[in-house]
Formats: sequence, C-alpha cells, structure tokens
Amino acid sequence: MTADERAPLADGEQVRAALRPDLRGRTAYGAPQLDVAVQLNTNESSYPVPPEVVADVLDRLGRDLVGLNRYPDREFTGLRQALVDYLALQSGVSLRPEQLWAGNGSNEVLQHLVQAFGGQGRTALGFTPAYSMHPIIVETLGTRWVDGQRDAQTFDLEIGSAVEQARAADPDLVFLCSPNNPTGTALPFESIEAVLAAAPRAIVVVDEAYAEFARPGTPSALELLEDHERLVVTRTMSKAFTLAGARLGYLAAHPALVDALRLVRLPYHLSTPTQTIAEVSLAHAEQLLSTVEAIKGQRDRLVTELAAMGLRPVPSDANFVLFGGLADAPTTWQALLEAGILVRDVGIPHHLRVTAGTPEEATAFLTAMAELLPEHLQSQPHRSTAPRQGATT
Ligand SMILES: *Cc1c(COP(=O)(O)O)cnc(C)c1O
Repeated sequence: MTADERAPLADGEQVRAALRPDLRGRTAYGAPQLDVAVQLNTNESSYPVPPEVVADVLDRLGRDLVGLNRYPDREFTGLRQALVDYLALQSGVSLRPEQLWAGNGSNEVLQHLVQAFGGQGRTALGFTPAYSMHPIIVETLGTRWVDGQRDAQTFDLEIGSAVEQARAADPDLVFLCSPNNPTGTALPFESIEAVLAAAPRAIVVVDEAYAEFARPGTPSALELLEDHERLVVTRTMSKAFTLAGARLGYLAAHPALVDALRLVRLPYHLSTPTQTIAEVSLAHAEQLLSTVEAIKGQRDRLVTELAAMGLRPVPSDANFVLFGGLADAPTTWQALLEAGILVRDVGIPHHLRVTAGTPEEATAFLTAMAELLPEHLQSQPHRSTAPRQGATT
C-alpha cells in the first residue's frame, strides 16, 4: 500500500486536548540534525572510534548476543568498577562502586535525580545561560524551575550573586554546570561550596560533561564528594570519549543517594550491549581520550583567531567556544549553513557557539567566518544578552 492509499488521519485534536496542561504549547529539545559536511553544533567528537576499540567491543558483544535471552545485570557491576578505575586515573579521586550510577546518557541520570529529589511542590534552581535540558527535565517532571542568572556580560557566576539567588529560592535541587555549556568556563570550588551552604536542604548537582577538556589546574568537584553528602557530580561518555551514539552517562555521589535512584529507574535500564560498549571503552580510556589534547588545541585556536577577527570569544574549558560580536546571530548561522558549516544558535543575542572539531573543520569554519566579515560584525556592541524564548543549548 502506498502512502496515497492510506485513509486520512484525524487532526489530532483529541490527543492535544488530553495532554497534561503544563505540557501544552511547549517545544521539544531540537538541536537541528542536518546532513552538512562540517557539523560543529552539538559538541560531539569529530573523531571516529578507533579500530582497536571497535574490534574489542565486537569480540565481547559476540559473546553477549547469545545471552540476550536473559535480562542485563541490573546493577551493572562490571561497568561500575570500570568507572571507578577510570575516575581514579583521570581525576585521582578514589571512589567505591556503590558511589557510582549510570544511565542511557547523562540526561537519563539527570532525570533519575529529578524523579527522586524533585517532583510536585518542589523547586529546582539553575543559573542560565546553562544547559537547556536542565529546565526541560525539571519542568516535565512537574518540578518548579527557578531561572537563576549568570553575569549578563561575562557569563560568570559570581559567588555573592549565586549565594543570594540560592537563599532566595530555597531550592530542593540546584544545577551547576562546570565547565558551563554554552558559555565554556568552569566554576571554582568556592562557588560550589558556597551554594551548598546557601541551599542547606538541596541536592547540588555539578554537571561535568566537559571535565576532560578543562584547562590545566581546573579541579573536578569529585574531590569535594567526601566532604559533602548532598553533592552529585554527573559525567558522560558522549563528549571526550567520542561515544555520543552509545548513550552512556554516569554520576558519583554518596552511596545513600545512589541507593535512592534505584527507586525511580526502570528495571534493567542499561542494556547488555550498552554496558559492554561502555566497559570495553573505559578499558581503552587512554586511547579514546588521546584526541582530547588536539581538540583543546583547536579550541584555543578558535578563541585566538575569532578575537583577531574582532569577534568576542568567551574563554573555554570545554570542546566548544561561544563568541559574541555578531550583528544578528540567526543571519550568520544561516550564512554559515549555506557555506556547509553547522554551528549552534543558543539563543543569546549576537552570539553563536562552535564545537572544536578537527584542524580541517576549524579551518573551514574560520575561513567561512572571515569571508562573512565585516558585514556580519556588530557595529555598536549591544548590551542585552538575555536569551530568547524557546532557545536550546
Ligand atoms: C552534552 C551534554 C550532556 C550530555 O548528555 P548525554 O545524555 O550524556 O549525551 C550533559 N550535560 C551537558 C551540560 C552537556 O552539554
């Protein structure tokens, strides 16, 4: 039967009427997935998984597949230990397996946190511009979101301001993002500890999706875990580990917090192949992370060269650069797309965000950008950096 022979569908009005009232009129997370030669819009790694890792994964998966008649290990025991070993190597922090939790991407891990510690009548605070999924996960689970603010010019989260906003919101959950997406900079320990003190009931989540890209001397909040029972550090294999398609995120926290997440997860939420891909990849951590230094080099090059063009890049501890100084960000975004380069309009006026990819991709982006100047430059620096409605980071 062809599409033309199918009976016409009703207009969907009954479904829209049945939808939860608080979800009506919302727009879904929607970073464009376009088939463009140079994709620098979602901070994925531009480097493919190395053949040695592929071979090892295939070898283990071959043995897994015959056993797929059974449910996966609900406690992902092997993966937990692999994460403990990796974090000891990467950050020097020694954790116990019962302090680790994992999910299908750190987005699922964040969702587990909100399911367990948010909900009806509860409040979560974040400081925007930050990761757009934090308010989406919070609000779709019926939790009130308080949109705290970072400095409108520098995008820094100043300690005094963070403390004041945390006290005023009296939240059950706080989201910090360090290094921050989309602005790029990491938070000092003093800010995290000040927020823990100013929100004395709250679970404080530090989203460290980009930790592996931080500039030298940037410590991980993992080091603070032993002193703070309400602190959670989330990480992901989607960025530095070049495994966005595998969907593996994780967190480290107090064992009691991890134990609470068992109440809300769906049973067997991590498939056997997912556990295997992650576990085998962690055993190859050094090799998978070997591109991190090259990516940091391109990131620093983007900052230097964009500044030399008269644009205003924000210093970055991540694998992307946010830059301001554009007359109209959507117009420049479209012009870059027409040149075969996909970057991200995160909804901050006069700014775009570009991922640090390979040297060739950075060159393609910088060349295209240079060709758009000076017409696309902002003539008089505009002061408003308030995000537009519906923007996604
Ligand atoms: C990319 C990103 C994530 C990763 O999400 P996954 O579900 O693990 O792919 C989490 N937090 C931030 C801030 C990010 O930018």
